Amino acid sequence: MTFIAVVVLLVSLIVLTTNSSRAEETKTTQPAREMHALWSHPPDVGKTAESVREFVAKCKRANIDTIVMLIKGMAGEIYWKSKKFPQAIAKGYESFDVLEHLVREAHAQGIKVDAWLVDFAEGERGAAFREHPEWAMLNPDGTTTASESLGVAKRHYGYVWMCPARRPGYTDQWLLPMIEEIATNYAVDSIHHDYVRYPGDVAPDSYCFCDYCLKHIPRYAMLSYETGTQERFKVKHSQERIEANWSDVTMLPPDWQQRDRREMADYILNGHTIPGGPPDMRYYFYDYRAHQIDTFVREAHERIKKINPRIGISAAIFKNPIQSSRFIGQRWHEWSRWVDVYMPMTYRSFFVGDMQAYEDHLAETTARQIEWTRGEKPLYAGIASTYLCREEMKPLEDLREQVGDLKNSLPTDTLGRADKARAISKGFDALRERLARFAPEQEREIALLLVPVVADDARTFTPEAIDKLVAALLRLRRDLPAGFCPPEKLTLAIEAARKAKPNGIAIFSAGNLTIEKLWPTLEAAFKR
Ligand SMILES: [Zn+2]
Repeated sequence: MTFIAVVVLLVSLIVLTTNSSRAEETKTTQPAREMHALWSHPPDVGKTAESVREFVAKCKRANIDTIVMLIKGMAGEIYWKSKKFPQAIAKGYESFDVLEHLVREAHAQGIKVDAWLVDFAEGERGAAFREHPEWAMLNPDGTTTASESLGVAKRHYGYVWMCPARRPGYTDQWLLPMIEEIATNYAVDSIHHDYVRYPGDVAPDSYCFCDYCLKHIPRYAMLSYETGTQERFKVKHSQERIEANWSDVTMLPPDWQQRDRREMADYILNGHTIPGGPPDMRYYFYDYRAHQIDTFVREAHERIKKINPRIGISAAIFKNPIQSSRFIGQRWHEWSRWVDVYMPMTYRSFFVGDMQAYEDHLAETTARQIEWTRGEKPLYAGIASTYLCREEMKPLEDLREQVGDLKNSLPTDTLGRADKARAISKGFDALRERLARFAPEQEREIALLLVPVVADDARTFTPEAIDKLVAALLRLRRDLPAGFCPPEKLTLAIEAARKAKPNGIAIFSAGNLTIEKLWPTLEAAFKR
């Protein structure tokens, strides 16, 4: 190559690189439009063509691009006219096909509809558990998640989580066929996964130890050979560090088959892969669970794309995929092959601290989420309006709980009732200033209803008096006065999420926006 040829080549290379970097510059100076999604529930859209149209118009005004509509709820109830699962259709939705109406009206306005399924939770009286109790997840005691309790008050949990691993089972006999039915019969834009995980709020380390999983957790990690099952080979320790002597796979105890469920579960959670080594056996338990959820997400993707390649997949996931892999088997940052939009629920309820701390944490967490997913697929920052007004709602929730406590107390417990009466008076004091500012009439009404309940150390109130108070507080909770939830908090949260430059913002939920009177705020925040 002559000197001139080299110069020409270099010059053209420089021109080429400059051009391509200019092209990139133009791309980055014209960022893609921020997308807006809204999680919604069937009651939000009503049961007539007219009410559906009104709801869609409201979404249009707020520049919502995607309505994420719940069509399979926590109790296993479904909201489409299923031919395969008519026994699961929610009461009152046998003749009104909310999904069909919504898709038609939303598409007419250029809005997409994602069909939102609560994947692995079912109701204890739901059709799936009724017909197939053997599909439920089991804990080491051999009972389902319905035996768990919630919170320090030990509230009844009431939901049965289904084993994602078991085949044939819930995943391949119930959930995937439901998804296929929707993909076949409805012009939805995406299937939306939720509860695509193991239970995390009640007992993250207790599931699943069903017979299928007790057999398949060791098999998945190959903790023993299937040939010569009983034989055990002793590893000759040739490495100084104990954990370096890990090459043999005969890690199950020889009496494995004789152990009961509790003993097997104990070994899987607390056993040592290497005798004398660290208690690391549960690593395989966590990896197995993440693998089961991965498998379902992959299978759902394959089946949907086979039916209609234009249907996408979106998912509501926990805020931190590294931690959710460990706690709930949700390794979602590795799902880019099977998911088209990530909607992490970066709700304030998952963070401690004040509103300013949440704004900082929301921005930082959203940035990390984009990093974890390597920006492979669009990510919408998920914000729940309700939890934003934690400070304003707390006095009301506390008061409702205190009144409930008093209602459930025994008339003979005079000291306890006197304490509760004082707590209620104090609780109302904490609420009344804000209430008087935004709803003076309701403040007066509740103040009056309170008098006969707390009078005389709550020794003489009638059931009617306390029921009236309970009802008034419930009415207030279901229809908050405008301004009670500070609108600026929603604006601040959206602005905080935007600092991380997510592809979109997803808001939970339409119903809450109505209760909190925050639709106008959302309209202003999403204005284009
Ligand atoms: Zn299982």
